[in-house]
Amino acid sequence: MENAPVGFQMFELVDKNDLGSFTFRATNIECGRQTGMDMKQFIGQSIREAMPDVLNMNVLHLYEEALISKKTVDLGVVEYGDKKVNLGHYKVEVYHIDNKHVGVIFNNITAQIEAETRLKKKIAEVEENAREMEEITYIASHDLQEPLTTIKSMTEWLRQRYEPDLDEQGKKGVNFVIQSVSRMKVLIMDLMDFSRIGQDVMPNEKIDIRELLEDMISDLASAEGMSEAKVTVGEMPTINGYRTGLRLLFQNLISNSLKFRADNIQPAINIESKETETHWQFSVKDNGIGIEKKYLKEIFSIFQRLHSRDEYEGTGIGLAHCRKVIELHEGKIWVESKVGKGSTFYFTIAKKRLR
Ligand code: ADP
Repeated sequence: MENAPVGFQMFELVDKNDLGSFTFRATNIECGRQTGMDMKQFIGQSIREAMPDVLNMNVLHLYEEALISKKTVDLGVVEYGDKKVNLGHYKVEVYHIDNKHVGVIFNNITAQIEAETRLKKKIAEVEENAREMEEITYIASHDLQEPLTTIKSMTEWLRQRYEPDLDEQGKKGVNFVIQSVSRMKVLIMDLMDFSRIGQDVMPNEKIDIRELLEDMISDLASAEGMSEAKVTVGEMPTINGYRTGLRLLFQNLISNSLKFRADNIQPAINIESKETETHWQFSVKDNGIGIEKKYLKEIFSIFQRLHSRDEYEGTGIGLAHCRKVIELHEGKIWVESKVGKGSTFYFTIAKKRLR
C-alpha cells in the first residue's frame, strides 16, 4: 500500500460509541502527495484531534457503515480542505478491513473537475456561437430574398418590354441574368432551410419509417429517373425522431441516388435498417457513378460538389443538411463507395437522446 497510486489511510474505531475516535493507524506516500500534507504525523491521533472539521462533514457514519456492513461504501466526490490539507475534490471509497478497521482510498480529482468545467464552458460558448451564426445566416438569406425578387421581376419586365429591340447577344444576356437569379433564389432558400434546422426545439415524434418512406417515394414518383428505378425497402422500425428532418434526409439520399445514376443501367436503390445496442442504423445503397475515396468526407460539408452544374444540377447543400439532421439525432453519417460501382450512405440515430 505504501507505493500504491491512490491515497490510502487506515483508521481504527477505538470507541464504537464515538465516531470522533476513528484513529489514524496507517497512510501512504500518495496520500501525502495528494493532500499536500505528510499524514504520517497524525498516526496515533484520532480524527477529533487531527482533523476536527471532518466531524461536521457527516462522512464518519459512512466509515461506520463500511465497518458494520462489511461492504465497500462509495462516498462519491467529497470537497475537503482545511489549514493542513489542500482544498480540493476527492473521490473517496471506504472499505471494511476487520471489525475495528476501515481503509479509505481516495484520489484528488480537482484538476479533472476543473478541466471538465472549462470544457463545459467552452462547449456552451461554441454552441452559442453556432446558434448566432445560424441566426445571422437565416436573417441574411431572408433579407437577400427581397432584392432578388425585385431583380428577377424587373429583368422579366425588361425582357417583355424590350425583347423586339434586342439582338441575339442582348437576348442571351437577359436570359442569363434571369437563370442566375432563379438559381440564386434556390440557393438562398436552401441556405434558409439549412440554418433553420435545429433553431427550434426539435419535436420528438414517433415515426413509422416504412410509412414515411412509402409516402416519400410516392411523392418522388414524378422525379427524374424515378419511374425507371427499382427501389427496395427492407425491414423498417418505428423510432422516435424529428419527422421533417428525417424525411428530408431520406429524400436527399434517394434523389442523389437517382441524380448520380450510372449510364445504361437501371438505377437500383436499396434501403435497409439494423438495430444496435444504442442506435438504429440505416443504409441507402445505389448502383450509381460512385465517389472517389478522397472525397468521401468532404461531400458532407456545405457547398461541396464534385461536378459542375452543367453535368449535374444542385447546390451542394443536401448532404450538409443530412449531416445536421443526424447530429440532432446524436448519430453519425458516412458513405462507402466505389467509383463506377455505386455508393452506400449509412447513418445512425440514437435510441435515447440527451437533448
Ligand atoms: P448536390 O446534390 O446539390 O450537389 P449534395 O450535398 O447532396 O449536393 O451532394 C454533394 C456531392 O456529393 C454531389 O455533388 C456529388 O458529387 C456527391 N454525391 C452525393 N450523393 C451521391 C451519390 N449517391 N452518388 C455519387 N455521388 C454523390
